Amino acid sequence: MPQVYNWQLGREMSYPYEARHPQWQFAFVFNINRCLGCQTCTVACKSTWTFSKGQEYMWWNNVETKPYGGYPQFWDVKALRLLEDANPGGQTWTEKAGDAKAPYGTYDGITLFEGAERRFGDDGSRRVLGYMPADDEWTAPNIYEDTPKGEKGVRNQFRHGSAMLPSHDTWFFYLQRLCNHCSYPACLAACPRKAIYKRQEDGIVLIDQNRCRGYKKCVEACPYKKSLYRGTTRVSEKCVGCYPRVEGKDPMSEGAPMETRCMAACIGKIRMQGLVAVNEDGSWTEDKSNPLYYMVKVAKVALPLYPQFGTEPNGYYIPPRWVPRPYLRQMFGPGVDQAIEQYTAPSRELLAIMQLFRVSRRIIFKYEIEEGEKVYETTINGKPWAMYNDTVIGFGKDGKEIVRTTVEEPLHVRPDKHANAI
Ligand code: SF4
Ligand code: SF4
Ligand code: SF4
Repeated sequence: MPQVYNWQLGREMSYPYEARHPQWQFAFVFNINRCLGCQTCTVACKSTWTFSKGQEYMWWNNVETKPYGGYPQFWDVKALRLLEDANPGGQTWTEKAGDAKAPYGTYDGITLFEGAERRFGDDGSRRVLGYMPADDEWTAPNIYEDTPKGEKGVRNQFRHGSAMLPSHDTWFFYLQRLCNHCSYPACLAACPRKAIYKRQEDGIVLIDQNRCRGYKKCVEACPYKKSLYRGTTRVSEKCVGCYPRVEGKDPMSEGAPMETRCMAACIGKIRMQGLVAVNEDGSWTEDKSNPLYYMVKVAKVALPLYPQFGTEPNGYYIPPRWVPRPYLRQMFGPGVDQAIEQYTAPSRELLAIMQLFRVSRRIIFKYEIEEGEKVYETTINGKPWAMYNDTVIGFGKDGKEIVRTTVEEPLHVRPDKHANAI
């Protein structure tokens, strides 16, 4: 197989096609610490894209309770097991002071593409290790909702009493999921019809509904299980990245790129979606004034989900602070400790950027900060920390200001005439 560079793994890896990167990449950051599990995002997607016959069990966006929940059930445990079966005990990392090409160190294990190469040969019948979930694994998308980890792995046996950071004995968290519009999509690699493509203009991965013949190879190959088969049309479907909104073609957007339905609807203000510029070699163009670039590449506070799968997913997560670190490290890689440290005592710039979550439906391409007064000081983990009431300003693709807000949440006084209005 050709070799491509995967910066999340800090090394080259096998992939069935030569690398060809888009000019811009659809990407998002989710702050797991703030999610309410309200499923507003899930319903926003469903009521827009998957409310028709044959789509009843199709949830392009879902929010599952970890560690037990999953849609389909145990999707991640099963994908991890495929790696382990192909390379027992080998899924380890060499951590070193990371540069931009290997920010989390180097992954020494195998990816799902390399596992297939090892098992079926360079030109074998399968390009990706995968599995097909049974029908009943799709039927309960929110199974084990709010179910914490029990004692010694036994569900419903909980430790009572107080809990302290850095990790709780009894814990759960919400994991928000949609297609990662991967840089090296497993769905695309597995499709024998070449029906799946990645758009040059924004990196969104789509299935050509006319070319697809419903072989379900993408369903089997996608480790995140975000390509789904529709029985009524006999072809596969997946998240379309709300591309009309990203293109600025939604009637409400007045031509400006807008965030997707699931992002814009988020009640907990945990989601920020945007576009990052990509170089020819697939690296992100350095732009510290892009909020996504800052969070992922500079602060390294947001991490990819299961980077070891090898697809270079473009969804990034701020890990939950209360969850035991070994669990988080197998899910988000070795960057977990630094990410939690950054989030616990954020820099002045990071704290300001995090105020931009969900303050506009327009995509923010750039931010600026106007410095304000110090309003609070304390110590965090034994080190002095201060909060400043800075003003953060978000700009659209055209460079014009679209929003401004402050670190201290502004107080809005409702006029008398709207006393009972929402
Ligand atoms: S998450 Fe799955 S469906 Fe989406 S691009 Fe990646 S491999 Fe394809
Ligand atoms: S980006 Fe759009 S299509 Fe994809 S999960 Fe979100 S709402 Fe659904
Ligand atoms: S809308 Fe936001 S807060 Fe609610 S479940 Fe979805 S991601 Fe979480």
